[in-house]
Amino acid sequence: MRKALVTGSSRGIGKAIALELARRGYALAVHYAGNQAAAEATAAEARALGASQVVVLGADLSSAQAAQKLVADANAALGGLEVLVNNAGITRDTLLIRMKDEDWDTVIATNLSAIFHTTREAIKLMMRARWGRVINISSVVGLLGNPGQANYVAAKAGLIGFTRSVAKEYAARGITVNAVAPGFIESDMTAKLPEQVVAEYLKQIPAGRFGKPEEVAKAVAFLASDDAAYITGQTLCVDGGMTPH
Ligand code: NAP
Repeated sequence: MRKALVTGSSRGIGKAIALELARRGYALAVHYAGNQAAAEATAAEARALGASQVVVLGADLSSAQAAQKLVADANAALGGLEVLVNNAGITRDTLLIRMKDEDWDTVIATNLSAIFHTTREAIKLMMRARWGRVINISSVVGLLGNPGQANYVAAKAGLIGFTRSVAKEYAARGITVNAVAPGFIESDMTAKLPEQVVAEYLKQIPAGRFGKPEEVAKAVAFLASDDAAYITGQTLCVDGGMTPH
């Protein structure tokens, strides 16, 4: 059975992705930063849904060393690693002129540099196996821009360029690298938004509603599957029609 690491799978979209892969029988590494109890709860649900094996690993991905070690630990615990879902992400929203160096550095480290570190380690393993899937969770704001999120949007747009480049490097080796760009999805991240902001966002969504984490998870599971073998370097928007392209 295929072996997958889903970063940030203690909650939200990452949890839904882990559970969707569990339904399909994957061996899973569930990852968290600080919320171990939530990660253990995801793991218990994953086992109940049919995951062939589940391990729980903690790591603060703003550290390059911790990010690399997470992949090595997942590989050791599962006896291989074929699918990497780079999902963990944070926000530190504020207007540019008020943005502190630390707001910028932490978001870039966690949402962009961490993906460089995990992916570089994982690709080495996938090259040996001559099969692999990397799926990077970007965001529609990485394509559209968003006021108050210059740090987050720079990271999410950077992730799309990273995806396109790495896809071209390893396409001939049976490894695909794609991005999924969610629109506004019901989660802890969007629960923090003020009511007025939510109302404004809803006006921009042709589907007239926020998406569900499970709707993102289905797209990720497809890209992880053998059925998606000839799709690489793409950004799949799961956004209720928000992004024109
Ligand atoms: P969420 O509910 O806030 O969950 C964030 C996850 O990331 C948690 O598992 C958290 O672990 C982990 N995490 C936080 N800081 C970390 C760190 N320093 N190192 C490692 N892991 C860390 O987020 P979400 O809404 O599900 O978002 C998941 C992904 O989708 C993110 O990349 C986000 O940018 C992207 N996205 C979300 C939306 C949306 O509308 N929600 C839209 C577009 C894109 P702990 O539980 O241990 O804290």
